[in-house]
Amino acid sequence: MTLVAIPATDTQTDTHCPYCALQCGMRLTGAVVGPREFPTSGGGLCQKGWTAATVLDSPGRLTEPLVRQGGELRPASWDVALDLIATRLAELRAAHGADSVAVFGGGGLTNEKAYLLGKFARVALGTAQIDYNGRFCMSSAAAAGLRAFGLDRGMPFPVTDLADADVVLLVGANPAETMPPFMQHLAGAELIVVDPRRSATAEQAGLHLRPAPGTDLALALGILHAVVADGHLRHSYVADRTSGFDAAWRVVAAWWPERVERVTGVAAADQRRAAALLAGARRAYVLTARGTEQHASGTDTVGAWINLALALGLPGRRGSGFGCLTGQGNGQGGREHGQKADQLPGYRRIDDPAARAHVAAVWGVPPSTLPGPGRSAYELLDSLGTPGGPRALLLFGSNVTVSAPRSDHVADRLSTLDLLVVADVVLSETARVADVVLPVTQWAEEDGTMTNLEGRVLLRRKAVAPPPGVRTDLDVLQGLATRLGQPADRFPVEAEAVFDELRRASAGGPADYSGVTYARLRDGEALHWPVPDTDHPGTPRMFLDSFAHPDGRARFVPVDHSGPAEPPDAEFPLRATTGRVLQHYQSGAQTRLVPALVDAVPEVFVEVHPDTAAHAGLSDGDLASVTSRRGSVHARVRCVASLRPDVVFLPFHFPGVNALTNPALDPTSRMPEFKVCAVRLETP
Ligand code: SF4
Repeated sequence: MTLVAIPATDTQTDTHCPYCALQCGMRLTGAVVGPREFPTSGGGLCQKGWTAATVLDSPGRLTEPLVRQGGELRPASWDVALDLIATRLAELRAAHGADSVAVFGGGGLTNEKAYLLGKFARVALGTAQIDYNGRFCMSSAAAAGLRAFGLDRGMPFPVTDLADADVVLLVGANPAETMPPFMQHLAGAELIVVDPRRSATAEQAGLHLRPAPGTDLALALGILHAVVADGHLRHSYVADRTSGFDAAWRVVAAWWPERVERVTGVAAADQRRAAALLAGARRAYVLTARGTEQHASGTDTVGAWINLALALGLPGRRGSGFGCLTGQGNGQGGREHGQKADQLPGYRRIDDPAARAHVAAVWGVPPSTLPGPGRSAYELLDSLGTPGGPRALLLFGSNVTVSAPRSDHVADRLSTLDLLVVADVVLSETARVADVVLPVTQWAEEDGTMTNLEGRVLLRRKAVAPPPGVRTDLDVLQGLATRLGQPADRFPVEAEAVFDELRRASAGGPADYSGVTYARLRDGEALHWPVPDTDHPGTPRMFLDSFAHPDGRARFVPVDHSGPAEPPDAEFPLRATTGRVLQHYQSGAQTRLVPALVDAVPEVFVEVHPDTAAHAGLSDGDLASVTSRRGSVHARVRCVASLRPDVVFLPFHFPGVNALTNPALDPTSRMPEFKVCAVRLETP
């Protein structure tokens, strides 16, 4: 690998940050980042955004395909690399069937890439085995939103609506670190923050509730109990716009705040105060994020907070609402266009005959040839190399040996494959163990669309030329598809051409993009899906008149507390929880290449209460060993007096942290329980 020289240029390009779902507005002058007015970011950028261009010419940048020979990854030409992949895929499919090849995508891929990847898997490979890393971070919110509202759009209102809120309840979200410019929208509101840590966001809260990890659902039940018992239930809203309250209340009735206090550690008086604050607000929002979702009961946990929002009459009311803060850059669009095991483009279900017929017609194939549904992300990774499981994996935009739960086991599964192919911009930890590595373009080097956390479709424009030797993911998919016998025009390489096909494939679906065009996006139109025709202005606010269920009502769903899948015990007495820090993003594959970010947070650390550290014979700055039933990681001790003594926190941007985490899956969303597992703390 060599340092990539980016030619200096004065050309200015308006685009968006490559990282999180806030998709802050950015102006690139050549490869120099500047901020730009945009509604979600208000002209702001966080440190990750300011330094994003560093990855464009990083010495860690991949600029040529690599093929494993004699145990080493060695440079190869594109033809050699693609021919080798296609030949081995064809051999495996002939010998073991189409499902012997699996595909894994990512929530950072553009809509065009996510769409073409799903089509490639189902049409060129004929495999049902495709899923993506969004299963690790959004699926429980999606499942709960679908269940309650009949449709999943994380935030069914523009972010800027939050500016008029009197009270905002943030559950399991730390936007002050994960998306700092977002906080400007909360400046006028009283904040209630639910988080086991006194996070940067909790520091700004008027009321901070600190439940033990894994007890968030019980806390939602307690606050809802207080809403009803203290006379705050919005009877007319519940009668006119919802169904199922009585069944949900039968569960909630048994969770009075004092009982909830014993389970969660949150004082009953604070639960009642939260209920009164929310009920007394003229405009209020309930917002959830990964802390709510990443549980073996994540769908029910999000559902419990939705029930609270419904009891207060918030969803579908102008100036109030329920929303979910999507994490990954294209967390919303990435789950709509077909890289998820159970979906086809337009947020269609793959087991719906009408949906299959529509998409198959766009693709020019018989509906009966569309495979699926396949396995969910962790189940797919867990099945690699097992009897009947996939023997080859094509990975796009994901670093699973760092980001998947029980990551040591996932690395073991990868090592059993006949073929592992990784397409990435840098030599990630997963790319290092691949058989073939394909160097691909990144955000500023290509056109594409992203859908931000409020369901707004954004155009991310090409600002600089990619390094010689690097190709787009769309190029890679066409190169492989044609080698597998597909016509080239079935897999276009121009992003706008792919998007135009996506528009047709999504037409009439829940996430209808048919009225979104590159021309409208270039003109700066704010288009929130659904946009069913090119004259349609988009749908910034959903559910104002009715919800998406056939009867137009939102549904209360009875949900009960069950606790974490792995409670602490004598051998593993602490609850570990994981999350993000300001300076790093997801698996850290990109941000760990940016010197300014690495200087700020160079290594994995573990936050520990000083008494807990002392009990383990550790002091601030010591190296500790954190061990769960699945693995162990060494981490630098940070003593934090505000932390619960029974909890430790680790940022997941570093290899080894997810060796600890529990792959127990939510039964509905199939999302793993990243947010809590039992560990012990020791001197190494
Ligand atoms: Fe904005 Fe998120 Fe990028 Fe930070 S990482 S600049 S908050 S889009």
